[in-house]
Amino acid sequence: TSFGFKHVNEQDKARMVGDVFTSVASKYDVMNDLMSVGLHRLWKDRLVSKLNPFPGMKHLDVAGGTGDVAFRILESINRVKYRGPRAAFEDTLEAETRIYVCDINPNMLNVGKQRALEKGFGEDGSLIWVEGNAESLTFQNDSMDGYTIAFGIRNVTHIEKVLSEAHRVLKPGGRFLCLELSHVGIPLFKELYDCYSFSVIPFVGELVAGDRDSYQYLVESIRRFPPQEKFASMIADAGFQRVEYENLVGGVVAIHSGLKI
Ligand code: SAM
Repeated sequence: TSFGFKHVNEQDKARMVGDVFTSVASKYDVMNDLMSVGLHRLWKDRLVSKLNPFPGMKHLDVAGGTGDVAFRILESINRVKYRGPRAAFEDTLEAETRIYVCDINPNMLNVGKQRALEKGFGEDGSLIWVEGNAESLTFQNDSMDGYTIAFGIRNVTHIEKVLSEAHRVLKPGGRFLCLELSHVGIPLFKELYDCYSFSVIPFVGELVAGDRDSYQYLVESIRRFPPQEKFASMIADAGFQRVEYENLVGGVVAIHSGLKI
């Protein structure tokens, strides 16, 4: 069946997005690698390198799913760990590192918790899994040094609410970063990409996850997401300063960022 996108009301949209991620939670990580031919790993690395994580930071990763971004943040903090005379002080700071992974879908979070156990992440209490909606966060005002959302904002019902919540929970000086599938502007590459996403993605979705509709829906949602410039202006409208974006692979994905001043 087709979802008949034009007629989808808000409740249906929320439910469908829920269904999509419930049905794909266990296969989610494999599908990511397949669909992006492994590139999502590099894109997430880039996102985290822009964030500049530091020991002791309070960070919120929204729509954090199975923990990919959060794990990278912790890895990055471990890498920058300073081993000089102030190592003990740095260790104290690090002990206070808190990376919150917030997602609306408990199945995704459960897969994430399992992965964290396997990889040995968060044994020190630095990883906190929170079930919640990006549009109405339970975190306090001015409480986070950083906010990331990777491949999450495209599927929410009200993008504006997500952005204003991001702005609310960030401390002054805190950084908002969003990684999202975006719009390709380069002729020919655009046609190729359209062909890939409209034919290959639903096909692989059917083959591997046994769920063509869900992947068809995801492809449609990429088309309906605002183009780079428009999304940048929405971020600015939410109160962020120094809004900018970087296209990766010609705009297949974009990383938008903004600063709360
Ligand atoms: N950030 C992860 C990554 O890049 O691997 C997961 C991305 S996955 C494509 C999208 C996630 O957004 C899903 O885990 C889904 O449950 C979550 N999600 C959808 N709507 C949400 C909402 N309103 N609030 C919080 N999470 C939401």
